[in-house]
Amino acid sequence: MDCIFCKILDGEIPAYKVYEDEHTMAFLDITQGTKGHTLLIPKKHVKNVYDLDDDTAATLFQAVPKVAKALKKAFNPIGLNVINNNDQPLQSVYHVHIHLVPRYDNDGMVLSTINHQDDVSKETFLEIQDAIKNALS
Ligand code: AMP
Ligand code: ZN
Repeated sequence: MDCIFCKILDGEIPAYKVYEDEHTMAFLDITQGTKGHTLLIPKKHVKNVYDLDDDTAATLFQAVPKVAKALKKAFNPIGLNVINNNDQPLQSVYHVHIHLVPRYDNDGMVLSTINHQDDVSKETFLEIQDAIKNALS
């Protein structure tokens, strides 16, 4: 399969591996958006969050706090973002992955959300709530 992360798992291409267990592996993101920027992936090839089965999701996410705590211990960041991109134009590698991004003072990353609370009426909140609940049922 022509998947760069499967090739990393197979050892076909090198990576700076930092963690591995039966179901997951973590390695440094080549771009190092901040110092310690790490990607966590399942060993099973799954395209993105929409294709994750329950077991793969569980084993993938159980490793998130482990790697997060290691990054906190190693670099003492002021905070840490856990990010997952799905589909174009956000996702560039189609093997699901979790970004763990330690945050530092003046690190240049812009990842905060915008507060639209004052622009969203109670009716709109209820409509949004309904849309999601209907989609789940
Ligand atoms: P995304 O945009 O969420 O799909 O992110 C994919 C990430 O994979 C990017 O941050 C890339 O820097 C990273 N990446 C791509 N190829 C490699 C590689 N060979 N080793 C490490 N990280 C990679
Ligand atoms: Zn893959």
